[in-house]
Amino acid sequence: MKLIFEKSYQGRGNHIFPSLDVEVGIPESAMRNRKNHLPEISENEIVRHYTELAKRAHGVNTGFYPLGSCTMKHNPKVSERVASNPKFVNIHPLQPIETTEGCREVLKRTEEYLCEITGMDAMTFQPAAGAHGEFTGMLLIKAYHKKKENYDKTEIIVPDSAHGTNPASAVMAGFEIVNIKSDKNGMVDLKELEEKISEKTAGIMLTNPNTVGLFDNNILKITQMVHDAGGLCYYDGANLNAVMGIVRPGDVGFDVTHLNIHKTFSTPHGGGGPGSGPCGCKEFLRQFLPGIRETKNGYEMETETIGNVTGYYGNFLVVVKALAYLLSIGSDGVSLSAKNAVLNANYMMHKLKDIYDVAYDRTCMHEFVLTLEKLKEDTGVSALDISKALLDYGIHPPTMYFPLIVHEALMIEPTETESKEVLNEAILAFRKIYEDALKNPDKALKAPISTPVGRLDEVQAARKPVLRYEFES
Ligand SMILES: *Cc1c(COP(=O)(O)O)cnc(C)c1O
Repeated sequence: MKLIFEKSYQGRGNHIFPSLDVEVGIPESAMRNRKNHLPEISENEIVRHYTELAKRAHGVNTGFYPLGSCTMKHNPKVSERVASNPKFVNIHPLQPIETTEGCREVLKRTEEYLCEITGMDAMTFQPAAGAHGEFTGMLLIKAYHKKKENYDKTEIIVPDSAHGTNPASAVMAGFEIVNIKSDKNGMVDLKELEEKISEKTAGIMLTNPNTVGLFDNNILKITQMVHDAGGLCYYDGANLNAVMGIVRPGDVGFDVTHLNIHKTFSTPHGGGGPGSGPCGCKEFLRQFLPGIRETKNGYEMETETIGNVTGYYGNFLVVVKALAYLLSIGSDGVSLSAKNAVLNANYMMHKLKDIYDVAYDRTCMHEFVLTLEKLKEDTGVSALDISKALLDYGIHPPTMYFPLIVHEALMIEPTETESKEVLNEAILAFRKIYEDALKNPDKALKAPISTPVGRLDEVQAARKPVLRYEFES
């Protein structure tokens, strides 16, 4: 496929507006001093160009997308429709407060619902992504210890199964990381936790279900141990899709949490946003929350706020989508969606585990992890090769080589929004690929064969990306 610049024909023109006929006094220093290099191509061809590109990209609207830890679920179009209402779109955060009553109501109601779902008492919508929510949460924990003059509390405990953003956020907030291992069942190793907890412990960051898709049965014990040492407990809510409406982080000992609205609450993601990672907390941390909030005295910053973590109220329209989603599925829908996410993952796992090795052979939550270590030893076909072969079946690969504690990992998250028929087709594809790999490993190493490009040099693509077109003049 040609680039749009290669399709351009000099002299064709690219404007629909008449040329400027007024003086606009732009200073000479701000004027462009070379050609602007816009492609010259007809509107018709532009539309075809982008349609062609869109056809080559895989998305939830194109096919099955079981990318573990990402919750690539169907995002109901009604949420988009509500969020594109001009009354929500054409609003400005600096408008007089009395003219934004509806939008403030959206924020308030969504905060109320999400607090009810998480068992938190207050929530800020400022953070623009999950990782940003983690960072905000870490700053709340920091502010808390500072206020209590707990100057020795410098460490955050993070299990080795954690998402990479967890230690990164804690470090950015100025903490040191103490890693703890998972036991052979994929749970936090309680003995090691006990050894690592000390007077330096400022808190723990935990995902439950964790990133191997398992619910940690010791959760009450873990949060109690951290609290007993004077630390706080942070809940990474990225996996809430498995437990929403069933278990509330606030009820099992967590003090702070973030949610990924773009995972759990119906905003499409991938490609960089916009996202929203609201950060919720218990009452005793409310005074540290960022941003302007509705307080007893009207709209203002909280008394001991950590400041702003982004502009104004965060990605407001993403919050509108979350509210539209919650109102459209209702409170029964929230827990039903979690149950179906778990059911779908278990269904797929059980239909695959006679040929694939499951990393932890027990009932999983919303996702499960396969390990292809043995297949690789026997045939040379790796988790990467299986993922590539899936492309020939129109399936987006699962998450690969994560979590790091499982070798040759494939992490599959079907989500609640896929039907049994779609799952059955995917199961057949996974099985066929495995059988083919055993019979003819060389062929598996060459997949995919039906996509516009085959195996890419991924290292070069990451290290030396070519992101601009080099013009001759
Ligand atoms: C996705 C994810 C995050 C980070 O969220 P972003 O919105 O991508 O910043 C954190 N933890 C877990 C477990 C996740 O799956």
